[in-house]
Amino acid sequence: MGCGASAQRENDVPITRVVPLPQAVSEANTLTLTGGSQELGNGGISQYSKASLDKVNSLTDRASPEQVLQALLDGNARFISGASVHPHQDFSRVKQISVKQKPLAAILGCADSRVPAEIVFDQGFGDVFVCRVAGNIATPEQVASLEYAVLHVGVKVVMILGHTKCGAVHAALSGKAFPGFIDTLVGNLDVAIARVDSVSAKAHQRLLDSEEERQEKVVRENVKYQIQRCQRSTIIQEGLQRGKVLLAGAVYDLDTGRVHVIVTKGGTR
Ligand SMILES: [Zn+2]
Repeated sequence: MGCGASAQRENDVPITRVVPLPQAVSEANTLTLTGGSQELGNGGISQYSKASLDKVNSLTDRASPEQVLQALLDGNARFISGASVHPHQDFSRVKQISVKQKPLAAILGCADSRVPAEIVFDQGFGDVFVCRVAGNIATPEQVASLEYAVLHVGVKVVMILGHTKCGAVHAALSGKAFPGFIDTLVGNLDVAIARVDSVSAKAHQRLLDSEEERQEKVVRENVKYQIQRCQRSTIIQEGLQRGKVLLAGAVYDLDTGRVHVIVTKGGTR
């Protein structure tokens, strides 16, 4: 998918919903997923119910990738509405999963201290397989961790989670040279920057965007680019093709606490 086209298209996508979830799930971020890939809009936040929480906590191996993603988004809805239930965070859970972990989602997020995946999605011990690195970049080592999660842990959702006001993106946009290995890390963001600037140049938009607007465009494009890097994995690709895995790109808003899903690949067919 051409990044330029997707960047143009995503704002036009209407809010969609469906997913044959068990019942009473939150309407926040409810998705339409019919396989293949889609750019997504997001709905408003709605109330969750005790019934939906019970369903979230009872997700099993039989859950579809879409249900797993929806469970994460329901957790985020609880979090931003001040209704986090902090599931699976007592010591009994530690003992329960000491022999084997069975999370249903893997998340590659930024190392930024303000984006702790378990808290943002209101999850607990053993619920999410989390990899974090500044800029949420899908380096070979990070992709290998996600491959392990798909192949051996059995996750059904692989999420790349960027965030607004990302310091790594800001650093990359500065064009400065950095000491140590920081340059190497920042270099992983060059593709996203080039794509955003290319699209903006064609649209004669570059001079109209503020630095902040440009940065947030790069944050979103970087999520999409890292999704593409994950798709180069034969293990993840096979999961996508078999309908066993859903790849989701999302951006966490530091101001609102809300996770916006901006693109998905794969999922149940
Ligand atoms: Zn960051």
